[in-house]
Formats: sequence, C-alpha cells, structure tokens
Amino acid sequence: THFGYETVKEEEKAKKVAGVFTSVAQKYDVMNDLMSMGMHRLWKKFTIDIANVRPGERVLDVAGGTADLSLAFAKRVGDSGQVWLTDINHAMLSVGRDRVLDKGFSLPTAQCDAEKLPFASDSFDLVTVAFGLRNMTHKDVALAEMRRVLRPGGRLLVLEFSKIWKPLAPAYDAYSFKLLPWMGQKVANDADSYRYLAESIRMHPDQDTLAEMMRGAGLERVQYFNLAAGAVALHRGYKF
Ligand code: SAM
Repeated sequence: THFGYETVKEEEKAKKVAGVFTSVAQKYDVMNDLMSMGMHRLWKKFTIDIANVRPGERVLDVAGGTADLSLAFAKRVGDSGQVWLTDINHAMLSVGRDRVLDKGFSLPTAQCDAEKLPFASDSFDLVTVAFGLRNMTHKDVALAEMRRVLRPGGRLLVLEFSKIWKPLAPAYDAYSFKLLPWMGQKVANDADSYRYLAESIRMHPDQDTLAEMMRGAGLERVQYFNLAAGAVALHRGYKF
C-alpha cells in the first residue's frame, strides 16, 4: 500500500540510512571490529568461501561499503574477471575506493541504489550484498534487481543479521540496545547511529522469511547457513 503516510515513512528511512552511513563512514571499519568482536571477519571469510569465485568471473558487490568482500573477490577473479564495488552512499564508497587503491587494486565503482541497478540484465556470475539489505527501503525490489543482473546459473549471496537462537536472545538484546549505543558514543561520538543499527537488526526478517522473500523475487534453490547461533545468516539463491 502506497498511501501518503507510507511514502513519507519510506523517504524518512532512506534519509536516515544516508545520514547514518555518512556519519559512520570514517570509523566504520574500527567499529565493525569492536562491535562484532572481530567476528565480522569470520562471517565474511565464510561468505568468500561459499562464493568460490573463479578466475574470469564477473562479480557485483552491492552495498559494498568499505570493500571487504570486493577486495577478496578482486584477488580471485584475475585479469580476465571483473569486480564492481557499488554503494548508494558517497562517503562509504570513498572510503572503500581508497582502501582498494591502498591494497594495490583498481576496481570499477558506481554510486547506485540497489533498487535501481545501472547494469544490463544477465551480466554477473555472482552478486553479493553484505549487511546491506536491511537498510534498503523496498527489499523485494532490491532482490528482484539483484536477480535481474545475474546471468542464468549465477548466484546471489546475502549476508545479514538474522534471528539469534532463542535462549541467547535476552543477552543479545541487552548487548545491542545498551552496549552498542554506548560504544558508538564512546568511539564514534554517535550513539544515535548505533541505536538505529540495533533497531534495524531487530526489524529485519528472520531466516525463513528472507528465504521466502528471495523465492518471491524468483531466486531458486534458496538455502541459508546460520552463523553465530543465527545472529547472522548467509542466504544463497540461484537464477535459472
Ligand atoms: N558491505 C559492507 C560490509 O559488509 O562491511 C558494508 C555494509 S554497511 C553496514 C551497509 C551499506 O549499505 C552502507 O554502505 C550503505 O550506504 C549501503 N546501502 C544502504 N542502502 C542502500 C541501497 N538502497 N542501495 C545500495 N546500498 C545501500
């Protein structure tokens, strides 16, 4: 339903997300390590293993931010392949591009909205989105776009916060709603952004709901892997 009220809320969300990532861009990597106690590196490593990128492949990293995944893929595609680093946010993309250059790579980059990808259909072997989907206003539209640009046989990987194993939920809630904003305040002088983070994690669809959304977007053979007791999940789907 797209009544006026919804549209206003949607615009607010997009604006909020833009504000949050412009504000955290410079401290993003440090905060990631702190908040996840370094675990985001393991989750990304798992994603990179499952991605199994081969020389010559074309990869699109959506909401790529500071380029952790893009860089790992860049090392694997070789000269015949290509990795696109993309993000909607200029500040995040700048940090990412600098990091890529510092590591001795040069990747094509594009500032774009996952809901309107500026790429031809059927053009990538792999599309990834890590900790990006929950920030998108119309997740169904974004998923359909990511599927569209995949070639038949290509795969989509979605790494995202998910629903933690129930017995751990109270401790996790205390951590994310109390400790996270406090750390955000201490380290980045920005409690609000990290409060948004905790809220966006709580609101995000659980494992099975996201799998259903991916099927709804036309992805097939959808499956997921729980990481950190389900605090994070990696979903994979194919386009046929
Ligand atoms: N992928 C990186 C990682 O795993 O470290 C960055 C993740 S960061 C938490 C989320 C990113 O999603 C931000 O850089 C933000 O700008 C981006 N983002 C939010 N909404 C977006 C959209 N509609 N299209 C593309 N990127 C978006």
